[in-house]
Amino acid sequence: MRLLPELVLTGAGWEAGRAVAVTDGRIAAVQPAGPPQPGDVALPGRALLPGTVNAHCHTFQSLLRGLGDDLDFMAWRDRVLYPLSERLDRGGIALGASFAFAEMLLRGATTCVDFFYLNDDGNDNAEAVIEAARAVGIRLVLARAMYDWEGAPKRYRETPTDARRRVRELIAAHRHDAACTVQPAPHSPHGASEAMIRAGWEVAESEATPFHIHVAEGRYEGERTLREHGATPIRYLDRLGVLGPRMIGVHCVWLDPEEIALMGARDAALAYCPSSNMFLGDGITRLPELLRAGVRVALGTDGGCTNNRLSVFEEMRMASLLQRVRLLDGTALPATTAFALGTASGAQVLDLEAGMVAPGRLADLVAIDLAEPSLHPSHDLLASVVYAMSERAVTDVWVHGRRVVEDGRLTTLSMEDLLARVRELTAGWRATA
Ligand SMILES: [Zn+2]
Repeated sequence: MRLLPELVLTGAGWEAGRAVAVTDGRIAAVQPAGPPQPGDVALPGRALLPGTVNAHCHTFQSLLRGLGDDLDFMAWRDRVLYPLSERLDRGGIALGASFAFAEMLLRGATTCVDFFYLNDDGNDNAEAVIEAARAVGIRLVLARAMYDWEGAPKRYRETPTDARRRVRELIAAHRHDAACTVQPAPHSPHGASEAMIRAGWEVAESEATPFHIHVAEGRYEGERTLREHGATPIRYLDRLGVLGPRMIGVHCVWLDPEEIALMGARDAALAYCPSSNMFLGDGITRLPELLRAGVRVALGTDGGCTNNRLSVFEEMRMASLLQRVRLLDGTALPATTAFALGTASGAQVLDLEAGMVAPGRLADLVAIDLAEPSLHPSHDLLASVVYAMSERAVTDVWVHGRRVVEDGRLTTLSMEDLLARVRELTAGWRATA
């Protein structure tokens, strides 16, 4: 198959008159279009970009959207997240995942990390999420949570021994999947014990994968880690020996300058979720400083009820705007950087060969409609994509070479049916008093 867009974004910038050849889920070549060939997919008036990478999400939370929007974090957690996540059986978990994946694909996200913690002492729920991703057609990184804080609902919790064994089993079960990888995810310094964090790191080491961990999202977390462990979160993780190139710290809002330098020195990575940080009133991660320190950065939406959108293009825009207002500097984070964080850099952080239109890369691609008003006038198309583009511009999406969105509609399932099921499941849900 060859895709023939009007423009394609390659390492050389926007190119016209090129064909993108796709074989076995990968980009085989980016070549002069030449004469038509059987299997060509003409994309007149469209530009082809790498699909975006959502490096942090909790898919089931899409079902909780709108239920605690104006609550503070603790009230949201205790009155919405904890009680309502208890109502989700395996079918509900799969429905939430399908709903979130479908929305992400329509917004141009071709990879999603689902940091998944409704594990019910096993892997069957995670398998339901993996099956949903396969059916909807998104590339999935199942960040299999490892959680043992006693204050959390029982279904989140396991012993480190059980969690270690189950994560290994899940990794083994999906080692040869084309579009799903499993990575360990000890929840956070407050949600996972020392033994659990070490167990997550050990699995990552032995399986040669990254691991995910929430770090310093709210100000209270640093104070709590300091009180309980005698060190702030990044120092504490360093003391445990897990701060290194395998670590993807999620959020990292409340770090001091020494912790930022330490993350860079250890070659750790960040999954940055600017909209969620704003929505929850967490604070502002010092992104330019982290980038200058050498920290590798991906972008995430976080869950659908703490954003409340599921678009990585949106996160590119928010990442840039938020740093401008923080630093009172319109040059704080340029469009090319913001775009790279949501594509190539995100893929690198997750250890995926995606995020670029180049031979050998995974064929995860997005086409946008150049006639969309938000892309006019066209002077610097990449800047327009980051700062101006409406979600309506995304017309077509391919994941692993499979066209999963065509002319703005999912090819893999009926959105009408999906929304009807979401309405039925969530009818009458509200925050507890
Ligand atoms: Zn999270």
